Amino acid sequence: MRHSAKWIVIDSETILENGYITVEKGIITDFGSVSTLNTKNIVDHGDGVIIPTLVNTHTHLELSSLKNKISFKSGFQHWVKELISEREKLTNECIDVGIQNAIDELLQSGTSTIGEISSLYRSNKYMNERLISGVFFKEYLGNDLNVDCKLISSQIFNSYAGHAPHTTSPELLKKLKFETTRNNKPYSIHLSESYDETEFIKHGKGKWADFLIERGIDFSSWPVPSRSPVEYLSKLDILDTKTMVVHLINADLKDFKILKDNECKICLCPRSNHNLHRKLPEFELIYNLDLEFCLGTDSLASCETLSIFDEMKYLGEVTNIFSPKTIFKSATINGAKALGLEEQYGDLKPKSVGSFIYLDLEAENVNAVFDKIVNCDFSKSFKVLSPDTTL
Ligand SMILES: [Zn+2]
Repeated sequence: MRHSAKWIVIDSETILENGYITVEKGIITDFGSVSTLNTKNIVDHGDGVIIPTLVNTHTHLELSSLKNKISFKSGFQHWVKELISEREKLTNECIDVGIQNAIDELLQSGTSTIGEISSLYRSNKYMNERLISGVFFKEYLGNDLNVDCKLISSQIFNSYAGHAPHTTSPELLKKLKFETTRNNKPYSIHLSESYDETEFIKHGKGKWADFLIERGIDFSSWPVPSRSPVEYLSKLDILDTKTMVVHLINADLKDFKILKDNECKICLCPRSNHNLHRKLPEFELIYNLDLEFCLGTDSLASCETLSIFDEMKYLGEVTNIFSPKTIFKSATINGAKALGLEEQYGDLKPKSVGSFIYLDLEAENVNAVFDKIVNCDFSKSFKVLSPDTTL
């Protein structure tokens, strides 16, 4: 089946005017200009733009049923306390309904691919059932090394995440990293997010240190104090091109240089950062170092929606340092690369999966295409076509 539109964004550098893509058996096989075709066997979607489906590299679907139940107006520490107490009240049924509704929301807002962080191990079942693609990161925290650390290689989307530098022992972080490296899978970790994290890593004391001592956790062998959480992970050999670091609100120039030298994948969740911390990463440093980044929403317990359209729009509103094209890349191919899925998702090149979005917008030139993708409200004016509907 061939699909055409006024504009087709194959990737950020390849934009067709009056173009088409061909989808066969759910895979893109060809693209080109409509004028070169001598067949009329084509679905013309209209004067808008066709783009790849979006990638949300950081979700916690298992927290979805906590939407609107936790206030994020009273700061991060209060939010964590409320999260723990509210989560204990949830039944499995309630959690599962939340997961399913959240996946529907993702698909309906044009996201085909996610990096799902799971601590309850319930969301993978529904990811499979509802045909949302991505990586299922089984997340660990604490210091118990007796964990199920065997990746099943046939389940190509399974991987591991460490929770954060201050909540997970170095031995466990390294063990999880060792397993993902051995299986050539991505690894995810929250990094440079909270005040407690930075204080503990920098000084080896403070509120978090007291908390660990209270719980009988001996951190005398942990490499604290370290200059920063980023440097701490660097000392542990956790940082490399397969490691996706999430948040980076408190990262400084030295930190971003370390991440660049190690070719880490950087995931930003600006709406969640604003809601929980009233603080955003230093975008200027990211821009000046020419670092690529991808976008995540975090969970519905800290973010209003799981839509990457909303995340792109917010990023464009809070900083004008990134071009609309850069923001578009962060929502598509950069996310696919961070998850190791760039062969299948993130662009509309031949061999990619034939799912795409048609946006009903009018653009007079290529620059306007990206500007409108990032800044417009598409809640009512787009359709998502998956391989099933395009066959
Ligand atoms: Zn998170």
